[in-house]
Amino acid sequence: MVDFALSEEMQMVRETARDFAWSRIYPTIEEDEEAHRFRPEIVREMGELGFFGTLIDEQYGGNPELGMMAAVLMSEETARVSASWGLPFNMQMIGSALTIQNFGTDAQKEKYIPQLVSGEKLGYFAITEPNSGSDVASMGTTALKKGDRYVLNGQKMWISNAQVGDYGITFAKTDPNADKPHRGLSAFITETKDAKGVEAKAIESKFGLFCAPTGEFAFSDYEVPEENLLGKEGDGFKICMTLLGNTRLSCAARAVGVSRACLEDSTKYAKERTQFGKPIASFQMIQEQLAEMWLEHAAAELLVWKAAWNYDRIKREGLKERNTIAVSTAKLYSATAAMRSATLAMKIFGSYGFSTEYPAARYLRDAASYAVVEGTSNIQTTIIARWVIDEMQITGPKA
Ligand SMILES: Cc1cc2nc3c(=O)[nH]c(=O)nc-3n(C[C@H](O)[C@H](O)[C@H](O)COP(=O)(O)OP(=O)(O)OC[C@H]3O[C@@H](n4cnc5c(N)ncnc54)[C@H](O)[C@@H]3O)c2cc1C
Repeated sequence: MVDFALSEEMQMVRETARDFAWSRIYPTIEEDEEAHRFRPEIVREMGELGFFGTLIDEQYGGNPELGMMAAVLMSEETARVSASWGLPFNMQMIGSALTIQNFGTDAQKEKYIPQLVSGEKLGYFAITEPNSGSDVASMGTTALKKGDRYVLNGQKMWISNAQVGDYGITFAKTDPNADKPHRGLSAFITETKDAKGVEAKAIESKFGLFCAPTGEFAFSDYEVPEENLLGKEGDGFKICMTLLGNTRLSCAARAVGVSRACLEDSTKYAKERTQFGKPIASFQMIQEQLAEMWLEHAAAELLVWKAAWNYDRIKREGLKERNTIAVSTAKLYSATAAMRSATLAMKIFGSYGFSTEYPAARYLRDAASYAVVEGTSNIQTTIIARWVIDEMQITGPKA
């Protein structure tokens, strides 16, 4: 049986996130954008509403029966109003708390998860470096064991929440000379706020996502107690790929939120804006552009919802299946759809698209992030192509 309708519970989740986004984020979004202002109190309010607990066990403050479907619905609704404000779902829950839940010890879970879920502490995950992006295994940050601690040296770049985060997950090489580079990678829970041996600073020269902090870490003999190793030494690559497989989906949902923003705002504008004595919505070329935006949005949303449904099904039924292809397909398509929709929105808004009075330019700037973050569009294409060639079932007549 296939059922495309959202359950009553999921409709309520969506309504709650929608109301929150329009009542708490929207009223100040343009001034916040201009000031590049991040509001930690919004994260706490989201935490209080249970937004960051849908994948987290009850004992750590979560409400796991809501699952990934709830997470993507909320990411989409929030990003519809502000793409920047879709990020905390990954920073608080999917990238940090869920990863600790998946790979951590009981002590780590008890110590770190509840305050990420409540929004009292701000999380992050630090993979990327100045010379290591898509090729994660090539990272240069080292974590060498010294007694009962690991000593980190190196630099992380483009890390969401770096300069405001309390704690998060940092990836580093415990065996820089491993025969295969990915085998030398390990993951750590790092408490970086005002800590000795680490400098966190903001990246000011960003193109978009102005209300979401992005920064860098410079580790210089920064010490992590051995009990903060996540999983075992050498598990880092596996942990990183699992983390990205999950955060990627929420990112895809944010792209869907942006494509819907483009569609809805462009439609409203096209009905109001008059040229040649008629609303521009009456011109066939504008209609074609709106129809194309709808198509892009509808297809992207279906792919994202399907990948979230599949995640929850695999979890619920305790299966060993992977969700990789569903997620990469959703991420690749929704990133392209958001960019295409934002480009069309800029055209429909004409010169007002070029103005900061209207949000079309913001949608375009924010949409550009989705082809880069959580694995670029080329990387998603590579994952899909490998699967198509090596694993996809090809049907034919029975032998
Ligand atoms: C706003 C923002 C927030 C971010 N937040 C975080 C965060 O919280 N944590 C974190 O760790 N990182 C974060 N990142 C970093 C992001 O994940 C990386 O930028 C991304 O993984 C790509 O790495 P790169 O920029 O070094 O590009 P590169 O890997 O250098 O890629 C450059 C180009 O080459 C292409 N390319 C690379 N390898 C291949 C290949 N094998 N085949 C075909 N094409 C290829 C890429 O697709 C891309 O087009 C963030 C980035 C941004 C912009």
